[in-house]
Amino acid sequence: MRLNHHFTIAIDGPSGAGKSTIARAVAERTGALYLDTGAMYRAVALWMLGHGIDPDDASAVASHVGSVMLDVLYEDGRQKVYLDGEDVTDAIRAGAVSTAASKTSAVPAVRERLVAMQREICAGRSAVMDGRDIGTKVLPDATLKIFLVASAEERARRRYLELKAQGGGDSYESVLEAMRIRDRDDSTRAASPLKKADDAVELDSSELTLDETVERALQLLRDRLGGGAS
Ligand code: C5P
Repeated sequence: MRLNHHFTIAIDGPSGAGKSTIARAVAERTGALYLDTGAMYRAVALWMLGHGIDPDDASAVASHVGSVMLDVLYEDGRQKVYLDGEDVTDAIRAGAVSTAASKTSAVPAVRERLVAMQREICAGRSAVMDGRDIGTKVLPDATLKIFLVASAEERARRRYLELKAQGGGDSYESVLEAMRIRDRDDSTRAASPLKKADDAVELDSSELTLDETVERALQLLRDRLGGGAS
């Protein structure tokens, strides 16, 4: 896809809707930078766990967030996350980190620090960012905002198959239950709850393949950019 314009795309939605897969594919097809903001929230949560800070203790999390040495780097075009100089790109995917991230991300001081970093990383370049608050908070003027959804059952089914392929023994029911809890926590928190931006386009991926979802996103971008894309 040839693009003559600078653009930004915000992809928000609940866990497991396929945001990162779609965002990465759209970035590859358009030559834009891809930023997975969830990885940054996960890294902060991992740091807190590693330093014995209870993710439920919001004031302790807030007072330590300034000490987290977090770096987001790109190696061979892939995003890597470092804590104190150590590559934690894989470690942040553990189930315990997902649960902790959902808690620490509700702390306003954590959000302030990470939102500032996210804006800085993407400043002046075409970018695709995925998260929960990209269209509402991080990039309120994004060229295109997509709110990607899928039913909780479908999201849990995808996650269950992914874990099974990695050798995990979690049952489908427990994956679905964890997904529901995370949905509830992400959408009911006071600081930047997961919410569709008024000007976002809702895209339901339950019945679409990955390629179909990417094609729809690219078509929406072409429509937004008018004559600048072919
Ligand atoms: O997207 P992912 O599941 O990796 O995100 C981990 C957690 O980080 C989410 O459950 C959510 O609580 C938080 N998050 C957030 N805002 C973002 C991205 C992620 O609060 N922009």
